[in-house]
Amino acid sequence: MSVFNDMVVQLRKNQNELKLLATMDPLTGLSNRKHLMDTLALHSERYSRHQTPFSILMADLDHFKEVNDTYGHLAGDAVLKRIGTILLEMLRSIDTAGRYGGEEFLIILDNTGMEEARQTAERIRTAVEESKITAATHTIQVTVSIGVATINSSMTMNIDGLIDLADKALYTAKQQGRNCTAWSSCEETAE
Ligand code: GH3
Ligand code: MG
Ligand code: MG
Repeated sequence: MSVFNDMVVQLRKNQNELKLLATMDPLTGLSNRKHLMDTLALHSERYSRHQTPFSILMADLDHFKEVNDTYGHLAGDAVLKRIGTILLEMLRSIDTAGRYGGEEFLIILDNTGMEEARQTAERIRTAVEESKITAATHTIQVTVSIGVATINSSMTMNIDGLIDLADKALYTAKQQGRNCTAWSSCEETAE
């Protein structure tokens, strides 16, 4: 009987580990894109029921191709890992940070309006700017541009629309010279 119980415990453990792996980006340990989209859908649903606000940050490393070209792809990977750690260290447990694409991170800030989201974006931007990342024999410094968007009642409950706003804001931040944050509000873009 005890052998059987041990087996059940082990199976449950394996199952939980598998579930965790299915939601994780293997390089950084952050959420993967699918988990980010699932989490956004939950937040959006909750917003339409209870109007609990939330914001997203789309963060893209500046001139990251140059980092790879100068220090090599493995060093680039080490930088991405470190950025993941910085994000986890800075965010609350109710927030979700994930890897949206190659060197692009999406952060979901629970119960957070625009002003607070902008402040968080600035804190992240500054922390990245100030961190010295060691990879093999190199010390690498990178910067990040961040687009901020907040869910809003004038927006139809469409996650793609919210991501689009954050993307537009990110584009503005890049245009403004990088290593900065910018924001979109849906009032500005509402038809
Ligand atoms: P910008 O400031 O406009 O964002 O410039 P950028 O160089 O960061 O942008 P670009 O889109 O030209 O290049 C992105 C680079 O990110 C190129 C690609 O090799 C690198 N990259 C994407 N995924 C990974 C990864 O998993 N590991 C490493 N090391 N590099 C990656
Ligand atoms: Mg980039
Ligand atoms: Mg990019």
